[in-house]
Amino acid sequence: MNRIFETPLYPYARNPDQDAEAPVRHPVIVVGAGPVGLAAALDLGQQGVPVVVLDENDKVSHGSRAICFSKRTLEIAQRLGVARPLTDRGVQWNLGKVFFGDRKVYEFNLLPETGHRQPAFINLQQYHLEHDMIDRLRAMQAEGAPIDLRGGNRVTGIEPRPDHVALSIDTPDGPYRLEAEYLVACDGAGSPLREMLGLGFQGRVFEDNFLIADVIMQADFPTERWFWFDPPFNPGQSALLHKQPDGVWRIDLQLGWDIDREKEKDPARVTARIRQMLGPEVEFDLEWVSIYTFQCRRMERFRHGRVLFAGDAAHQVSPFGARGANSGFQDTDNLCWKLRLVVSGAAPETLLDSYDVERVQAADENILNSTRSTDFITPKSRTSRLFRDAVLDLAEHHAFARPFVNSGRLSVPAIHDGSTLNSPDALPGGPARTRPGAPCPDAPLGDGYLLDRLGDGFTLMALGRDAPEIPGTTPLALTGVTDDLRTRYLGHAASALYLIRPDQHVAARWAEATPAQIKAALTRATKGQP
Ligand SMILES: Cc1cc2nc3c(=O)[nH]c(=O)nc-3n(C[C@H](O)[C@H](O)[C@H](O)COP(=O)(O)OP(=O)(O)OC[C@H]3O[C@@H](n4cnc5c(N)ncnc54)[C@H](O)[C@@H]3O)c2cc1C
Repeated sequence: MNRIFETPLYPYARNPDQDAEAPVRHPVIVVGAGPVGLAAALDLGQQGVPVVVLDENDKVSHGSRAICFSKRTLEIAQRLGVARPLTDRGVQWNLGKVFFGDRKVYEFNLLPETGHRQPAFINLQQYHLEHDMIDRLRAMQAEGAPIDLRGGNRVTGIEPRPDHVALSIDTPDGPYRLEAEYLVACDGAGSPLREMLGLGFQGRVFEDNFLIADVIMQADFPTERWFWFDPPFNPGQSALLHKQPDGVWRIDLQLGWDIDREKEKDPARVTARIRQMLGPEVEFDLEWVSIYTFQCRRMERFRHGRVLFAGDAAHQVSPFGARGANSGFQDTDNLCWKLRLVVSGAAPETLLDSYDVERVQAADENILNSTRSTDFITPKSRTSRLFRDAVLDLAEHHAFARPFVNSGRLSVPAIHDGSTLNSPDALPGGPARTRPGAPCPDAPLGDGYLLDRLGDGFTLMALGRDAPEIPGTTPLALTGVTDDLRTRYLGHAASALYLIRPDQHVAARWAEATPAQIKAALTRATKGQP
């Protein structure tokens, strides 16, 4: 059995801040070193923003949590220099199959298009992801990145002030205080900071229980996502099978609402259920068993003055669609460049309002998708079950019914249509997928890929023409336009200019633009107000 979750990776160590006469003030403090807090730490550290990360724990998270990490998460990880170990170890998959009873009714390919560095998804235990992120953080520290990760530091109090946030922290050596110009709250679904600030959560609790069993077995099922509606081995409910590294398989069985949770977790009972699913001849061991319920909900706002909420602390979804940690990565991707500009005085604080607007928009999209999936997977009335079963029956033979099959619409990044950071689209005939607000799709470029050429700042990308020199942007002129670039960025246009944000979302695009128009778009994208 893998035991990396038992090893302290950032054990408590006394810090000089604890002996200072007055609380020491830091530009940014991140609370929580889960995947989202670690992503914030790597991003800020890479951009040279000094960051202190506080976590009450000192290890990676334990148990069956996230396994599916999306293409966009891997692209963000690539920018942060940590994609390689994730994709090397992770199980790559693009194909999903859907079964109804014992018949396959439908299959889908999440990445039907070639020419992307990253696969549609990898499966990787969350503890491996966190471990690789901490390895990356250590490597960055060794190269001088200003990241200070403090284990055994539990935040017990928070006081928002006009020009800073004051924190009370408990440690094995007793309490101390710190101040932050800005605080990023990544303290998870139970968010003590949210509670301490008396902030609410809106949304819906689902009345259902799911059994998660991570089992170790040598099986030759293909590396695909298999989802069953009403399978013979779990009648009236759903089931999911996913391969993870180290010979571990994720089995997720819907149990219904009125169950005895303790009885259902009994290893003998779980083993019997899994035997029914896999057949009597398959040998397996249980690595982890848990029962979970879930909510789809979010905070009303993610920005509260100098406190910015991200990840599960800000929003939660059902696991169908793998939108939890994946959307948390997109939160910090969106936030960290804005924090850098604000902390350095290069942008006004109002830029941070656009974090709130854009990521609330994304959270609503994720909640909508994951709620729809959950309603389809676990119909709560006779009528919705009849509709669901009819769709599944039709999908086996009729293509028109397949888009209605919803076994989880898997995580894709939100397009920030209507964001105040966008300039009006000025590329007639340009592809809709790269309109202002959209994340840039990758494409092969020379020996590498396009996204590798976009740095941590603003890029002015020119296709089929020269890139003008505009202060505050890095020019990227692509004169030889490949078919992939043409399809993804030009459409029917002959040439184009794209202003690309540090988080690789399009801020503006033109067929032709004067330097004054480009400067105006840059100002708009860094001001946060129209
Ligand atoms: C069964 C299951 C399956 C899932 N599958 C997927 C999936 O396939 N893909 C996906 O993207 N997501 C999935 N998720 C969701 C994913 O696990 C979460 O979205 C993710 O862990 C959120 O990360 P986070 O960093 O926001 O919070 P967390 O991982 O919860 O981290 C919060 C951190 O804050 C620290 N902390 C809390 N309070 C304090 C305090 N007072 N002081 C200091 N530190 C504190 C904690 O110690 C912890 O380290 C799944 C979840 C479950 C339960």
